[in-house]
Amino acid sequence: MGCRDSKKDFFRLTFSFTGSIFPDAMVPKTADVVVIGGGCMGASVAYHLAARGVKNITLLEREKFLGMGSTRAAAGGVRYQFSTRVNIQLSLYSLPIIEHFQDHFGTSSGYHPIGYLFLLSDAREVAAFKRNLALQHSLGLNDICWLDRDEIARRAPRVNLDGIVGGTFGPRDGLADPNTITQAFAARAKALGARIETEIAVTGIRRENNRDAAVHTNRGEIATRTVVCCAGAWSPEIGRMIDIEIPIVPMRRQFFITDPLPQIPSDHPFTIDFASSFYFHPEGAGLIVGMSNHDETPGYKLAVDEAFREKTLEHAIQRVPLLADAKIASEIVGLYEVTPDAHPILSEAKAAPGFYIAAGFSGHGFMHSPAAGKVMSEIILDGKSSTVDVSMLDLERFAEGRLVQEVNVV
Ligand SMILES: Cc1cc2nc3c(=O)[nH]c(=O)nc-3n(C[C@H](O)[C@H](O)[C@H](O)COP(=O)(O)OP(=O)(O)OC[C@H]3O[C@@H](n4cnc5c(N)ncnc54)[C@H](O)[C@@H]3O)c2cc1C
Repeated sequence: MGCRDSKKDFFRLTFSFTGSIFPDAMVPKTADVVVIGGGCMGASVAYHLAARGVKNITLLEREKFLGMGSTRAAAGGVRYQFSTRVNIQLSLYSLPIIEHFQDHFGTSSGYHPIGYLFLLSDAREVAAFKRNLALQHSLGLNDICWLDRDEIARRAPRVNLDGIVGGTFGPRDGLADPNTITQAFAARAKALGARIETEIAVTGIRRENNRDAAVHTNRGEIATRTVVCCAGAWSPEIGRMIDIEIPIVPMRRQFFITDPLPQIPSDHPFTIDFASSFYFHPEGAGLIVGMSNHDETPGYKLAVDEAFREKTLEHAIQRVPLLADAKIASEIVGLYEVTPDAHPILSEAKAAPGFYIAAGFSGHGFMHSPAAGKVMSEIILDGKSSTVDVSMLDLERFAEGRLVQEVNVV
């Protein structure tokens, strides 16, 4: 089956935040569930629990607004092209919701199916991506296809294809707006009765008889039996509050946005040079341009790495020569929340009943936030997930050596 081109207009919605407008508000005395973290995951978990009828939910976010952690930095990419069954299944649930967000939430997600184009340089990459294609096709994604160099040159004429031997293209991969989706989950959770509190930091968790008893915050204590850690890259700090090791590492990632570049159309595919990890895609009238720094060391680093920006520019100009004339309009730095196998943790911690984790999406979490909230609501309320089997994404897999490696991440 061939690949289709898509020509929908892309627009990125402006930031608008929901959250408490009463910064001096005290926390409630009790909650059935406390969700820690107000990024896309916390908002989705709160919404999906509220949609299942849980009434007394409190989400706590320490920043002034929701979505100020990694969610703020997400480049908006959404894709089906993964290398593992579970990641593809999380996309198969999430992307149709993102596509039809208006029907579900009354606001557009800004979904723009420009397609993801992976550029491959050697036989090893080709073999891996052909295996991925077979898996993707077996799960019904028959429109993801192999492209030879000529076809890539036709679709991406401004890209220098030196060293590229072929690639894969997923026409329904594309872009959407992380902030809109996060705010919509939170607003709907609130409408269903959840409390969404900003500027409240969780400082400790008290447990009694091996079960959550209370969450301590800078504004008081909330008695609760159930805690969901959606603290992204900061989840290890939450785990330490109950002596649990959560193996998530913060890794700085940065990209820049150029001034308008009319030579690159707004429906140009999200293009990734897999060997170098250099990528670019349209953003408004300009481009988002980025690359992963494989020499980056763990840490909560949020300043621009200027030396690495120069390295990114060199790769960028080599692959897309017209970028030599582009100006950088702005730069974004954020944290990938990386686990040892690049898959999230979606489970209750066996050593701490009542303590759940939805974190560690390793740089591709925003696109899976609809499914993550849904499966967590099932795990919490039904004891296991039914929408997608995520039982292999438990916390214990790391200690027990049951890693589920995703290789299609940069
Ligand atoms: C540069 C970059 C580009 C990316 N591009 C994409 C992309 O194109 N597509 C995609 O799908 N994903 C992308 N990602 C990944 C995506 O942003 C993350 O996977 C996702 O946002 C994780 O959401 P989260 O809710 O788990 O974490 P976060 O958004 O980090 O939310 C965690 C929240 O917990 C809060 N918190 C922490 N500790 C406490 C505490 N003690 N008390 C109260 N609150 C607390 C934090 O303030 C934070 O707001 C990108 C990430 C980066 C850095």
